[in-house]
Amino acid sequence: MSYKEPAPIKNQENPFESMMSRFDEAARILGLDQNSYNVLKSPAKAVLVNLPVIMDDGTVQVFEGYRVVHSQAMGPSKGGVRYSMDVNLDEVKALAAWMTWKCAVVGIPYGGGKGGIKCDPRKMSKGELERLTRAYTGSMRDVFGPENDIPAPDMNTGPQEMAWLMDEYSKIKGQYSPAVTTGKPLVLGGSSGRVEATGRGVMVAARAAMGKLGINPIEATCAVQGFGNVGSISAKLIQLQGLKIVAISDVTGGYYDPNGIDIETAIAYRNSNGGTLEGFKAERITNEEILELDVDVLVPAAMEDQITKHNAANIKAKLIVEGANGPTSANADIILNEKNIMVVPDILANAGGVTVSYFEWVQNRLGYYWTEERVHRRADRTMKQAFEEVYAASQKYGTSLRIAAYIVAIDKVSKALAFRGVF
Ligand code: GLU
Repeated sequence: MSYKEPAPIKNQENPFESMMSRFDEAARILGLDQNSYNVLKSPAKAVLVNLPVIMDDGTVQVFEGYRVVHSQAMGPSKGGVRYSMDVNLDEVKALAAWMTWKCAVVGIPYGGGKGGIKCDPRKMSKGELERLTRAYTGSMRDVFGPENDIPAPDMNTGPQEMAWLMDEYSKIKGQYSPAVTTGKPLVLGGSSGRVEATGRGVMVAARAAMGKLGINPIEATCAVQGFGNVGSISAKLIQLQGLKIVAISDVTGGYYDPNGIDIETAIAYRNSNGGTLEGFKAERITNEEILELDVDVLVPAAMEDQITKHNAANIKAKLIVEGANGPTSANADIILNEKNIMVVPDILANAGGVTVSYFEWVQNRLGYYWTEERVHRRADRTMKQAFEEVYAASQKYGTSLRIAAYIVAIDKVSKALAFRGVF
């Protein structure tokens, strides 16, 4: 494989349409009534704000911010806030709906929401990011709330942004409100185990799926696309299960070593290298090539629309475990199904993050904090149970795990809607 300049894969298929086509299929199989269908097909609320921020050079720049609440049928809406130049309404709408289904799949009492700010955080100073986060929080003061809509980290956001958000919200409301957001630093009411929760859940889902497929972890190989929080921690924990990680990647491209990459070493390298893998010692491949490697397990943990109708036929993995939200388009699903590749869908595979967010919110409201061991144990149990429930639904309805996950989720949300009544 020759090194090519890394080019981000273009969004070839609209994520909202991808989400809707799965929703439609699951709704049809489930026999969802027309009224529930009509309610759930559109988000309940979509807020667009323009955020003026004083930049370090004294100029004022105006950023577009979004928050979409898809559904609050099961409880307050929950979902992350991402900072990226790719943020747009269609993407946030799809991501918000995915959060509704994700929370329902793992059985936590939340609806779904998502937020985003169109910005390039790598080009902004810490002070600029703080002012932007505070401006966004101020504009969303009546949307957010511990009983209304609870943000969390997502792409390019983390504990620091959540700390600013919590602080700003608490100041506006005049009371300390840690439960307004999750993914906070430990010293500010964050939960033990939250940082690694998504990656840990990916590992638990991968193990459960390998069990069904009869893949022996000790003999298996794996490639992980994306080396942010989800990708790097998934890779580390999957390696600890005995799999050989032969390739990893980030915005700078892919890194391949058939003898295996030591993930602890790669994480230490990234941390001391300005946050990227640039220069890491391994054969260079592209972010497209990493998806097509001859491995047993593939973990797309970067962003949406990586596996599409254009490359699905070239995928060689036996098992795909979706660390990212929406990495596979609906058109690609058809090809992967024909190839008999098992896909543990995003709304199940990466639900470990929001599960521990729920534990964080519970702890904030109790004012009593759990040990890391307790968080891991409960989160692992939640993931295993959800996997088995989805697997059983896939057997019952003769569908892929993805459609089964949607069936499980839509069934719960539509029942909640029916009990509450639409008015
Ligand atoms: N952003 C994460 C996700 O997509 C976490 C959301 C949360 O914890 O609320 O699942």
